[in-house]
Amino acid sequence: MEKMLLLGNEAIAQSAIDAGLSGIYAYPGTPSTEILEYVQRSKEAREKKIHSTWSTNEKTAMESALGMSYAGKRTMVCMKHVGLNVAADPFINAAITGTNGGLIVVAADDPSMHSSQNEQDSRFYGKFAMIPILEPTNQQEAYDMVRYGFMISEKYGIPVLLRITTRLAHSRSGITRYESLPQNEVHLPGNPRQFILLPANAQKQYKSLLHNQALFEEESEISSFNNYKEGRDKSLGVIVCGIAYNYLFENFQEDEFPHPLLKIGQYPLPYNLIRRIYQDCGSILVLEEGYPILEELLRGILDNGKKILGRMDGTVPRDGELNPNIVARALGLKEEYGLPVPPVVKSRPPSLCKGCPHIYSYNALNEALSFYSKGRVFSDIGCYTLGALEPYGAINTCVDMGASITMAKGAADAGFVPAVAVIGDSTFTHSGMTGLLDAINDKSPITVMILDNATTAMTGGQKSAATGRLEDICLGLGVEKEHIHVVNPSPKYHEENLQIIKDEINYQGVSVIIPRRECIQTVARKIRDDKKQKQQEEVME
Ligand code: SF4
Repeated sequence: MEKMLLLGNEAIAQSAIDAGLSGIYAYPGTPSTEILEYVQRSKEAREKKIHSTWSTNEKTAMESALGMSYAGKRTMVCMKHVGLNVAADPFINAAITGTNGGLIVVAADDPSMHSSQNEQDSRFYGKFAMIPILEPTNQQEAYDMVRYGFMISEKYGIPVLLRITTRLAHSRSGITRYESLPQNEVHLPGNPRQFILLPANAQKQYKSLLHNQALFEEESEISSFNNYKEGRDKSLGVIVCGIAYNYLFENFQEDEFPHPLLKIGQYPLPYNLIRRIYQDCGSILVLEEGYPILEELLRGILDNGKKILGRMDGTVPRDGELNPNIVARALGLKEEYGLPVPPVVKSRPPSLCKGCPHIYSYNALNEALSFYSKGRVFSDIGCYTLGALEPYGAINTCVDMGASITMAKGAADAGFVPAVAVIGDSTFTHSGMTGLLDAINDKSPITVMILDNATTAMTGGQKSAATGRLEDICLGLGVEKEHIHVVNPSPKYHEENLQIIKDEINYQGVSVIIPRRECIQTVARKIRDDKKQKQQEEVME
């Protein structure tokens, strides 16, 4: 069988291709982005005609995947953890409708918030939806779990959540591929009412989901992803989930692990295996990345039984990623792993690229607002969020995708005028459009700047759903034509842009200013690609 050296995200994508995937949907978000990108680059995926385009947001991606599953095909939907909040409505309801073709939802969590607003743990969502969850310890397991996930999904007609974390997504390892499976033929669900969540149907479906819980638990008890290993020193037993398993064994490369060990890779939890380690050992250490979900379950509400060690009692830090040294400390071992980080790669705060078009939008905005009190700019999530940093200090909020426009609206409704919203082109279509409609319906006095760099720059330059259509969308939503301005964010047009911003923040209604200039990184990439293409053509001639 062929071996490949792949990122965790790439292993997931390759496995999906090998397991008979017909379509994949996603909105870019670190650390999940490379999954769909890999399918888009894959020659094999093209030959197999696997559908792979970016969706406008995670909710539309989840719904599209559910539609493909309805049609009987295997599908995958990928997002970062906070994206699952956006997709939560169809995600939870998909557990009630069930699936037809296999459906895997990949949620990439970002403990330590390397590139995120929070650390939420997607295992909670899987538990909330009452569906099976898979959590790989390494790239090979990520590959194996996708194939197994499709199998479980089709066996029980249920979506399966694949939860990964940043290091697994972004580290590389050898994986062994299995033979390719054919794609499913289009076929309708056996139960024609299954996808109609009218109360009478939903109640039946929900009962069936509840009934299946025992079967999901049985699957976990026999799953090869959950296993118990005996150990000679039973004063302590260790329960370890996901990539924490690797961190544990980084500390035992030469030596045998002395304690009983329960590795969890599939949920709902295998309760018999948990009972067994709990009974066998004097105390239990739980190593899990994210929230102390398993630890909390073990402690219950009384916490007066055996000693449970983990994030909740401080044996392991309550927040952030785990690593081999944290695990060593929890086990009372010497911290020996890794070399000191050289200063050249240490602590490099992000900043707007030199010459980034956003700089010139912020320069004009700052100047236009200099006559007012501070704190008037409600921003959103993307490169432009870096405008919060010095020397710009241009924005005052960043909460979630789309919150800029609605927060500015709320503040303006409270009498805080002028209120300015700053949002990117991709974020605007992701979840800004509906907020703009609210503001238009209420005639809220806000100025919305849609910084149009023609790409989703922060995640690496994926296509933006809004390219070339922003003015039309704003007009269609009801912004008055004379209050939509497209400007060029560059020093040459500073005075002109400044005047437009000044005029519009004085307007007592909704106005939209679109500073439009392509991200310099995507421009540079296109030039490089063109050059490469030309060189290849010359060699061919
Ligand atoms: S990647 Fe593009 S949009 Fe982001 S900071 Fe750099 S130039 Fe600006």
